[in-house]
Amino acid sequence: MAIIDCCSQPGLRPYLDAKNDMLSRLEAIAATDIIPLEQALNHILAEAVSSPIDVPSFANSAMDGYALRAEDLVEGQGLQLVGTSLAGHPFGGRVGPGECVRIMTGAALPLGADSVVMQENCRSEHNVVYPCGPVKTGQHVRLPAEDLAQGEVVFDAGTRINARVLSVLASLGLEQICVRRPLTLALLSTGDELKNPGELLAPGDIYDSNRIGVRAMLERLGIRVLDYGILADDPELIREHFLKAAREADALITSGGVSVGDADYTKQVLEEVGRIGFWKLAIKPGKPFAFGHIGNCAFFGLPGNPVSAAVTFHLLVRPALARLAGERLAPTPLLQARALMPFRKSPGRMDFQRGIVSNQPDGSLGVVAAGSQSSAVYSAMAEANCLLHLEQDRGNVAEGELVTLELIDGLYW
Ligand code: AMP
Ligand code: MG
Repeated sequence: MAIIDCCSQPGLRPYLDAKNDMLSRLEAIAATDIIPLEQALNHILAEAVSSPIDVPSFANSAMDGYALRAEDLVEGQGLQLVGTSLAGHPFGGRVGPGECVRIMTGAALPLGADSVVMQENCRSEHNVVYPCGPVKTGQHVRLPAEDLAQGEVVFDAGTRINARVLSVLASLGLEQICVRRPLTLALLSTGDELKNPGELLAPGDIYDSNRIGVRAMLERLGIRVLDYGILADDPELIREHFLKAAREADALITSGGVSVGDADYTKQVLEEVGRIGFWKLAIKPGKPFAFGHIGNCAFFGLPGNPVSAAVTFHLLVRPALARLAGERLAPTPLLQARALMPFRKSPGRMDFQRGIVSNQPDGSLGVVAAGSQSSAVYSAMAEANCLLHLEQDRGNVAEGELVTLELIDGLYW
């Protein structure tokens, strides 16, 4: 693997350039597992899934009503009721000319019948049914394979199994499914000032909020987390844990220690025990971000500032984890909204400001800032429902200008 030395490049690396470079250096883990469908939520399909059956596998009724032959209908004439077809209890006979069968939603359409008339549109007297109004041949009938045909590819390899995908897999009758082995990630925070919730803060201390937040995101992505806790700013300790992660995990995520302060050892240790990818990006928040490898273990060094950590996780680590996990990530839909207030921005870095987007009385989208845009103010992040994508070269945004944004995905943030 070639080593990128960003220090030899003038300026900072543009976001997309860095992201694509990083992705080109990552490969999906090859291991797969066959697991019961019931345990498949949040796993990634290792193979494409084709339907073993037609769904539905038989013609059935979309309504409660009467199954009949549309051609038999003559205004004012009734049809002889000859039986009943319930869901799970098909009518055994055949619907002949001038006949009909009482049918319920989901029940098999009897042989001979081609259409269903809703019960609300029928009058029945002594086993004779009088449909009212016009009837189109085939109406209210769900045809075999209307949803999925046998042999059809239903999901591609790389699909994340969410609740909806899971339901479709169940509708195919699949009992087991071949998925990629879930990723194992090591996670640690660095900083002499960090304390765990519940501990007393000495002067100058703060609570470690990054690790629990990142951990939550990882767990929601179905990733197994090895939590190494808080490490002091001690290069020896950091080195030891980097090597441990290389033995135990597919990737290591750290937070803190990637800027250029006196106690920022993350980059230094990564250079010693592994290979560093890049570490200065033309993005805000999150300029310092380290990517690299320790042996085969991918390394992501998040900035210490909580907003920067969460935003770089989303912008860089999330796509990288998808690549490692063999997940196909759909492109993020970007929306345009009108700035309902000015946004301060200097050209030079792409700025992912936190916003609150809402529908305006005229139906258009409008966006305001979610509180302070300081990368140290996480409470504003928790209020936000979108991230603005303010272009690298753009300056201040005036009220009324259009801005691009993405909704914050409630699934894992
Ligand atoms: P660093 O990247 O280590 O220079 O840290 C930058 C800023 O983020 C400093 O104000 C740190 O105190 C803060 N910080 C670092 N790690 C964490 C963490 N795990 N949780 C909350 N804040 C942090
Ligand atoms: Mg630090």
